[in-house]
Amino acid sequence: MYKPVLGIIGGGQLGSMLSQAAKKLDIRTVIYCDDPDAPGQHFADEFIFGRYDDYNKLREFCYKIDLITFEFENIPFETLENLNKEKKVIPYPKINKIVQNRLFEKDFINKCDLRTTKYVYIKNIKDLEASDNYFPALLKTCTLGYDGKGQFKIENSDQISKLNLEFNKEYILEKLVNLKTEISVVLTRYGHQRYSIYDPIENKHEEQILKYSEIPAKIDNSILEKSKDWASILAEELDYIGTMCVEFFVDINDNLYVNEIAPRVHNSGHLTINAYNVSQFENHIRAVCGIEKIELKKICDAKMINLIGNDINLYKGKKFNDNEFFYDYLKKEVKEKRKMGHITILKN
Ligand code: ADP
Ligand code: MG
Repeated sequence: MYKPVLGIIGGGQLGSMLSQAAKKLDIRTVIYCDDPDAPGQHFADEFIFGRYDDYNKLREFCYKIDLITFEFENIPFETLENLNKEKKVIPYPKINKIVQNRLFEKDFINKCDLRTTKYVYIKNIKDLEASDNYFPALLKTCTLGYDGKGQFKIENSDQISKLNLEFNKEYILEKLVNLKTEISVVLTRYGHQRYSIYDPIENKHEEQILKYSEIPAKIDNSILEKSKDWASILAEELDYIGTMCVEFFVDINDNLYVNEIAPRVHNSGHLTINAYNVSQFENHIRAVCGIEKIELKKICDAKMINLIGNDINLYKGKKFNDNEFFYDYLKKEVKEKRKMGHITILKN
């Protein structure tokens, strides 16, 4: 069978885990990353350090590979488009154009007739002052936010002046959803109506960073079905190939809202490595490299715990039970709020 050499943009934990999954399928990977210390260099067959706008370095990368995928969505769109002229980029760059901007993303979800929280575009302080009917709300930068970065909670109009907002950036104001729970649906699309869909995962965040993910999610069957359905509507509409994740809110009245789309493997899907016969990473590699799809089977219920910042030091060298799996991302430096590793605990 033809096995392409796969280029991966981004060398964090997701790129590392993609490389590991590729190795299992006998596929060579070359990671391109703008961080010389990125952990991906320990897992890929080859590692290239370069900026995302260094076209000479990127060309060098293109010579070595047959196709390109990525571990994060915020690669400059121009870079993706240029790369796509040399070697095919999968998922398609046009998808990044939508999801790189929270406003375009929410407009797209609503165009698909799926519910999001109420939101409005904010370009200056006047817009914000005129939007007090959205409060309590979260003000988010339209671009480049992750793990709660670039987000401001606003309870009432009095707080606006204290925020020190920079209006050289664009924002979206989102009405706060009264959360009962948060879930995510990870799926892999192989082509028209061909899917592997994992069961919804229940997620708990601390300070807007994912801390715990668990299956099965404690949700009604109707929400389970609806969330899987909505995730596949979005994937179909995007003509998505590979693994993606849709984050959802469930409010106290059991209404479902799409929060955001991650066009890539996702932190909440890490438990699929141990809890399913095929992980989200292996599924991604299979779909983008055109390898056959295997029918998905859940092996076990599971819980994943993110090890953030110094948490990791409590687990290094610790003895684990047979049902506990510890992953150290091998990041060079421990930083507060940095995802350093995770543990998956299987339940019988
Ligand atoms: P990020 O790109 O940083 O993951 P999200 O928009 O997913 O940004 O926000 C991170 C977390 O903040 C969410 O998982 C949720 O816990 C909380 N949050 C974000 N937006 C809302 C909202 N509109 N209502 C309630 N909680 C929210
Ligand atoms: Mg999120």
